[in-house]
This record gives sequence, C-alpha cells and structure tokens, in this order.
Amino acid sequence: HESSDSHLVAGLNPQQKEAVEYRGPALLIVAGAGSGKTRVLTHRIAHLIETREAWPSQILAITFTNKAAAEMRERVQALLGDSASGMWISTFHSACVRILRREAESLGLSSTFTIYDSADTRTVLKRIIKELDADTMGFTPASAQAKISKLKNELTDVEAYARNANTNDPQEVMFLAIFREYTRRLRAASALDFDDLIGETVYLFRAFPKVAALYQRRFRHLLVDEYQDTNHAQYSLIRELTLPVAREIVDELDEHGVLVRGLTDASGQIPGASLTVVGDSDQSIYAFRGADIRNISEFERDFPGAKVVLLEQNYRSTQNILSAANAVISNNFDRKDKKLWTADGDGEQITGYTGYTAHDEAQFVVDEIEALRRAGVDYREMAVFYRTNAQTRALEEIFVRSAVPYRVVGGTKFYERAEIKDAMAYLIAVANPLDELALRRILNTPKRGIGPATETAIAQFAEQNDISFRQAMRSAGELGLGPKVTGAITALADLLDEAALMLVPSQAGLDAGTNEGAAKVSDVLLALVEKSGLLTTLRNSRDPQDETRAENVEELVAQTRDFDRENPGASLVDFLTQVSLVAAADDLDDASGTVSLMTLHTAKGLEYHAVFLTGLEEGLLPHQMSASEPGGPAEERRLFYVGITRARKRLYLSLAMSRAQFGEVSVALPSRYLQEIPDGLIDWKQSPGMATSRGGTQGRALNGRGAGYGGARGSDGGVWGTRGRDLERFSVTKNAGAKTEWANRVTGAVRDNGDLALEAGDRIRHTDFGEGRVTQVTGEGTKKIAHVNFDTAGAKKLLIKIAPIEKL
Ligand code: ATP
Ligand code: MG
Repeated sequence: HESSDSHLVAGLNPQQKEAVEYRGPALLIVAGAGSGKTRVLTHRIAHLIETREAWPSQILAITFTNKAAAEMRERVQALLGDSASGMWISTFHSACVRILRREAESLGLSSTFTIYDSADTRTVLKRIIKELDADTMGFTPASAQAKISKLKNELTDVEAYARNANTNDPQEVMFLAIFREYTRRLRAASALDFDDLIGETVYLFRAFPKVAALYQRRFRHLLVDEYQDTNHAQYSLIRELTLPVAREIVDELDEHGVLVRGLTDASGQIPGASLTVVGDSDQSIYAFRGADIRNISEFERDFPGAKVVLLEQNYRSTQNILSAANAVISNNFDRKDKKLWTADGDGEQITGYTGYTAHDEAQFVVDEIEALRRAGVDYREMAVFYRTNAQTRALEEIFVRSAVPYRVVGGTKFYERAEIKDAMAYLIAVANPLDELALRRILNTPKRGIGPATETAIAQFAEQNDISFRQAMRSAGELGLGPKVTGAITALADLLDEAALMLVPSQAGLDAGTNEGAAKVSDVLLALVEKSGLLTTLRNSRDPQDETRAENVEELVAQTRDFDRENPGASLVDFLTQVSLVAAADDLDDASGTVSLMTLHTAKGLEYHAVFLTGLEEGLLPHQMSASEPGGPAEERRLFYVGITRARKRLYLSLAMSRAQFGEVSVALPSRYLQEIPDGLIDWKQSPGMATSRGGTQGRALNGRGAGYGGARGSDGGVWGTRGRDLERFSVTKNAGAKTEWANRVTGAVRDNGDLALEAGDRIRHTDFGEGRVTQVTGEGTKKIAHVNFDTAGAKKLLIKIAPIEKL
C-alpha cells in the first residue's frame, strides 16, 4: 500500500528519509556541503503539508538569501503540485519586516517605516560625528557603524550599553553619545536599520507577550537553513518563536475596564513550535557579522531531547572536488572530522591556472567558459567567484570584450547609484513623511536654489519647535528666507503631498480595506521624477554621464511597472520593502542564460556545473584583513571550502602573479590554501607568457589566441609533479624559504629576471606584446616597474622581475 506522501521520500537515502519523517520538538541536521540538507528541508515542508500535519500558513521557513527563498518555494510547489500560498518562506529580514509592519503600532513606529541601508546609516552617522566633533577622537562613520551593528547583533541596545559603559573613558562616553543620537534620529525618522529589523522583532515579542502569542500560535513549524550563520539576535528570535504558548487567547478587561486581548492559561499551554535547523559548521562564514558557530554545537543543550541526524553522502560534486575540499578543511582545528564522499566517481581533474596578470587570468576564465559552452554546458551552469568586489573590474573588462553573457550577482549596485537613490528618496519621502534623511536628500536635487544654510535652518527650526523636518518645510515663511527659496521649498512640499494623495484608495477601496482606486507605484514615481524636474534636468544636461543617469531613472520606472504588474494591489511601501531587502542580499531578477559572477559569500548554498575560483592569492584569500582577526584565517579557509563545494563537475582554481591593488602593482604569492590540496588532484596550466618563455608550447595554442597554456607539464613543469606525498609537505607559514620555493612552483615558470637592469631608452622584447621601448623605470627592488611603449601593443607597465621579457 503506497501512501500519498511516498513520492516525497522516494529517492532519499535512509538518513534523509528519517529527517523528513521525524516528528518531535527539535531536529538538527548536520552535514557537509552538498549532502542534501536544503533538499531535506524542502521535502520536509512538503511532507508536513501533504500528510496534513500542518497548514501552509503554519510554516515559517528561513533561508539565507531571497534567491534561496524563491527556489525553496518553487520546489515545494513543484512537490505538492499546487500552490502553497500562505506559507512563509523568506529570509530573517523579510520575515521580520512583515511582522514589524503589522505590529509597528505597538512599537510606536509608523507602519510605513523606512529601512536604512548601510549607506543611509553612514550618512546619518557622518552628520552626527561631525556635529559632535567626534572625528577628532578618531571616530569614522564606518567604525561607528561597525560597532553599533555588532552591539545590535548581540541585542545590546543603547540603554543596555549605557548601563555598562565606563564613564571615565572619554572614547566610550563619546561612542555612547553617538549611539544615543543615532538611535534618536532613526526613531524620529521612523526608520530602522538592518540590524534593527531583527532586534526590534525580538524586543516586540519580549515586551508584548500578546503579540508574541499570535505568532507563536500561528507558526507551528520553524525550519532554518544555514543555521551555522545565525547570530545571537537571530538565535533569540528563533527561541522566542518556539516558546510554549497559552492555549487560548481570550478577551479580557484591563485595569481601566477596557476590553483588550488577553492570554489565559486556563486550558493549559500548547507546546512550542517544532524547530528544524540544518547547518554545517565548516561553512560558517559570517563570524564578522556576529554569526556564532556555537549555535550549532550547543543546539542539543538549548533544545533538550533534540534529535540529531547526520548526512554523509554528497550528491553534488565529483570525488576529486570533494577530496580537495576534505583536504583543505581538515586543516582547521576544533572541528568534528567528517569526510565528504560520493558514489559518482572521481570525475575530471581540477584545473589550475596562473596568470601573469589579473587580465591574463580573466582571459583564461573566459576562454574556458567559451570552451565549456562549445562542449554543451549552459552559461547559467557556470559561475566565477572572487573574494572581494574590487576583483570584478579585471574580470568584467575581459567579459565585455567577449561574447559571453554575464551578470554580477549582488554587485551591480543599481540601487546604490546616486540618481536611483535620489528617485527612491522621493518615493520614501512620500511613504514616510518623517524620514528626514530622504527629505534632505531631495531638498535641492535637482538644483532649485536651496543651499546648505537653508537646509540647516530648516533642521534647526524643526528641532527647536519639536516638529518634523517636513512640517518645518511648511514653515519656510518664518525662516526669513527670500521669496524664491521659500517658493521652492513650498513647491517641493506640495509635490510630495500631491503624490501622497494619489496613493489614497477610492471610497470603495477604503470601504473594502483594499488599495482599489489608488495610483500605481509606477504612476507615482513617474509623476515625482517628472514634476520635480529630476528627469528633465538629467535629460537636458550636457554631461554625457547624465544621459546614462536619465536612462537609469527610466529603468527604475520600468521596474516599478513590472512590480505593479506582478503584484496587483501591492502598495508603495511593499515596493520600498522589496527594494531594501532585495538590494541588500541579492538580485531582483534571476537572469537565465548568463554566467554568474559573485563573491564567495554570495555563493553559499548554490551549485553550478563549472566553478571558477579566482584570485587565489595571499592577501586576497586569506584576505589580509583576516590576519589580525582571531579565527580569521580559519574562517577564510571555510570560505574557500564553500567555494570549492559549489562545483558539480568542473572546478578551476586560478590566480595572477601580479595584481594591481589600491593603485599599486604587486607580486602576488599563491594562497596558502592551494598548497593544502594534494598532488595529482590539480592539473596546473601555465600562463601564455610564461609557457612560451619556457620554450615551446606555442604550437598548442588554444582558441587561436597565439600562446597556449597547454603544455608546461614536463619533467620540471608539473608544478606539483616533483613534490612528494603528504609526508614531505612543508608548511608555508613556518618556513619562509619553502614559501618562496613553493610559490615559485605554483607560479610555475619560476620566471625570474633577477636584477635585470633596464633604463629609459632600452629596447626589449615581450613574448606576448612584441618589441617596445622602455620610457621610464619606477619602483624599487622586486617591485621595479618598466613603463614600455610597445610598437604595436601600446603602453604597458611591467614588473621587471617576472615579466616574460628580454633586453635587446
Ligand atoms: P550546502 O551545504 O552547499 O547548502 P546542501 O547540504 O544543502 O548543500 P543540497 O543543495 O540540498 O545540499 O543538495 C545538493 C545536491 O544534491 C542538489 O542538487 C540536490 O538535489 C542533490 N541531492 C540531494 N540529495 C539527493 C538524493 N538523495 N538523490 C539525488 N540527489 C540528491
Ligand atoms: Mg543548502
């Protein structure tokens, strides 16, 4: 006899099946990458619904990105065969915004509160620091922001901080003042920053048990993916939501005889929601944001009687890829040893590549992508990862020259462009009239003759009279300003009021409690950008860049049109929320048929047929900033591990021997983690320049680019070939001599021009660029750079020590 839910466990291995079917208060699934954790979560949700143990509305599933949430929703729907509406599958932040908008009143917030992104936060802090003269004490917007964020992630609000602050320490006193003023301003503007979204929800539940009870009763099943990356605030939120709750909510009278919703435990408590979390402590990569690995290791203590399921088999990658991942991560201490394995066989070797420059490396990536495409791999099945956003530049330069369609995930920063922020500020000012930041941004954008002195005068007037900035704008007549300026201010206030009126539903809509009759978001935005003159100013400008800016604003209007179409009945605030949450985490739309470029952090949870890990150099991975952080290098290693384990069939590891960073060209050392991968797993290719300089791989050119990176694996060429097995392994960190030797091996060519003395006027020959004349030599020692005018290739700067050049 087959039950109706059997298709939900068919094809799962016994441990996965157990995890899908287990029923109990708490379930922890710990497993390495690619072992089906997310898949188990998805099947578990479908199983709960299919067996009628839960309504979709009783499910709250938390994922790390909006993209992951959308994917999970789709999969659950596919499994169930019909819509699973009413189910909450979202990020922590989205779930909290939904709750906070509904319950804003309890917190004394407007339900149209603004969400400040990182740039907004810094703008506010910049003003405060300036006003308090805190910069003289070394405070910067970024440093204050980091500290405030850290405190909020630990649920330490300004009052809690004040209680423990050392009042004899002027630094602490000043920080407290900044923190206090920051908190005050966000309050006054009815704004929350990103960390507040979580913290305020926790506070809401703790301070208003009746509100908490509504959600505790509603969500009977909580499921959290990527649990290893939850921070204390998120952990506390989970705890609040899984507390036992009174069986009934009944109305009762308060001490004034007013009817209020009350709780009673007359009929006892119902147990807290059941909690399922999945995670992998080897993939914890957000310690810098307060993520706490202990959330996993202490789960059993926090949730006594919790069931623990271990998954072992990997279904994603080839054994070669997994062996590399195992070898790398085993260098971290303090971890339970687990080895990823697959039944699917070794697969192809990992490909290693050392470029002469970052461009060279990027060219290799693009060439390989084109080769894979010719071999039938879809562009969408390929991804390029890097440690820092700055690395995209070199990559993009080569990508745009090729025919390969690509997109930078989460990095295009469309919403961070000034003109988009301007247009958005108009919308925000309409939705939330208290938002001073938005108002001040648009006060003189486009230019309407309102100078900084006037802006300050309005702000001071607002403060003195304890009214909002917006109200103060209405009192412009009392500020002793000229008639033109006063007129401009009033006109702006009128425009915003008009736009707000457009958003009011018709009487029928009001009666029905719907948005009927209200203008669409796109109509309001168009009215604002046109009537304010924002769009016309950009269109009429002589600055060619303003043309692009105008197009961007038009693109935003187009996006609101899409939003209106896809979300009938949605409000302006819905749109603003979507933008704040999506822009922060990942892209709005998931373009298909393109290669994805993203940081290693963004790559979490995803998988691709082919993965390129680029910039594997000391200083980038591990990142130089991690060196000073306790646990930094271990966290960087986990990041590398996350990157490796995204690959299904093909993994490429690449680096550049020299890289321009912070305006300076430097010789790069291969990442120490590369050395942790055993011999034989990686097939090292050379850079074109280096390969040819070693004599004779030109004939094996790929893609007709002239030089090939095919060959240099001769007797001395196999970069790893001569190195012994594990026994002989040396530690790069302990042995400086070995470090260079090892570095030379990876960079392969051991190209070393010694102290080749070049000076202006010399003629040289370069293996790729041909002949040219040295115009200048700068730098010292190993960083000596020749500025060369090549006869055909143009001007280049070359690192003399390693460039494949000879003096003529
Ligand atoms: P990560 O730690 O990277 O988030 P994960 O543990 O969440 O990985 P999933 O993404 O759920 O792993 O699964 C990895 C891949 O293996 C997916 O393509 C998934 O569909 C597949 N998979 C998981 N379990 C099975 C199974 N029993 N049979 C076939 N494929 C499976
Ligand atoms: Mg996963």
